[in-house]
Amino acid sequence: MNTPWGYPDFDAHEALHFVTDEKSGLRAIIAMHSTHLGPAAGGTRFWHYADDAEALTDALRLSRGMSYKNAMAGLPLGGGKAVVLANPDRTKTPELLKAFGQAVNSLGGKYVTAEDVGMSVADMIAISQQTKFVAGLPVAGGAVGGDPGPHTSLGVFLGIKAAVKRCLGKDGLNGLHIALQGAGSVAGGVARQAAAEGARLSIADIDHSRAHGLAAETGGSVVSPDDILFLEADVVSPCALGAILTQQTIGRLKAPIVAGAANNQLATAADGSLLHERGILYAPDYVINAGGIINVSTEYLGDGGPDLVRSRIEAIPGRLEQIWAESASTGSDPASVADAMAQKLIGRA
Ligand code: NAD
Repeated sequence: MNTPWGYPDFDAHEALHFVTDEKSGLRAIIAMHSTHLGPAAGGTRFWHYADDAEALTDALRLSRGMSYKNAMAGLPLGGGKAVVLANPDRTKTPELLKAFGQAVNSLGGKYVTAEDVGMSVADMIAISQQTKFVAGLPVAGGAVGGDPGPHTSLGVFLGIKAAVKRCLGKDGLNGLHIALQGAGSVAGGVARQAAAEGARLSIADIDHSRAHGLAAETGGSVVSPDDILFLEADVVSPCALGAILTQQTIGRLKAPIVAGAANNQLATAADGSLLHERGILYAPDYVINAGGIINVSTEYLGDGGPDLVRSRIEAIPGRLEQIWAESASTGSDPASVADAMAQKLIGRA
């Protein structure tokens, strides 16, 4: 019999909840990896998976990633994630969101949700009718809340600058070539900030209109999604989906830096050392992309305002530098260094 305990990514998850609501058609998995530092916090992904096993693997990997991300961002939150198994048309109904909100509520605050791929601010508002254990909600001007995307973009932009400083010895992005995989919410913010500093952008998205729109706005060039990772660029910034760094793709990278927002960029842990062996500087994804959860956390916990959010995001480059310095002195790759730091913080060293 196959059980979740046998999954390669199970990694001692504290709890897994399999949610079914036949009336609305809801099928969801709520994964709680660790509550060592606080309630398990992480967004809900609404996605059509090829099969249930793929959905479970995604939930487990994303949830562990949130434990590591929240710990490394210094937040008083554990890690969790939910995936809603959408039908092929990705039909989302009010009844389905209601049932999902009730499922989150039934956990009594041990799991706190927010947006992720396929879930919007409007969806969070619908979920908030059923539970208070939700963030990423719109707020009045000046208060902390809303779409986490722009905050993730700021952290990724600052992280790219830190990588450029360390790897290329440059203080800014002026004249540098950045290859952006994805032209969505986070990539858009990164592109606008990088272009304002004088960076040259190559942009790819499977949604061509998005790529063209962002390129027009930032003076960038549109590149085929098949080529974007392999350009002669200074920085490759993966801002689309995960598992794009594999033995095959790493062998073909020409940029000296990989720094972007996508979760779970490394297909396997071994791919972190492959990058390192090739002399490519990697910014561990869950460290560089923590800006959004920093905003969500501050909104949910109500422990500060926009200044605190900004200062927490501005701490991301320092954390990356700490990881890279330890990697340089120990010879261990940055992804492994970050994992070890995070595991210690969640009491699993
Ligand atoms: P988004 O949905 O707004 O944008 C993603 C874009 O990637 C879409 O335009 C999509 O068409 C494109 N895309 C998908 N597959 C592609 C491919 N093979 N090649 C090129 N483009 C492709 O999502 P987002 O909010 O910008 O998030 C981007 C990534 O960053 C995701 O992996 C997400 O999990 C991660 N992330 C986002 C946040 C956040 O605050 N939004 C926080 C942390 C991590």
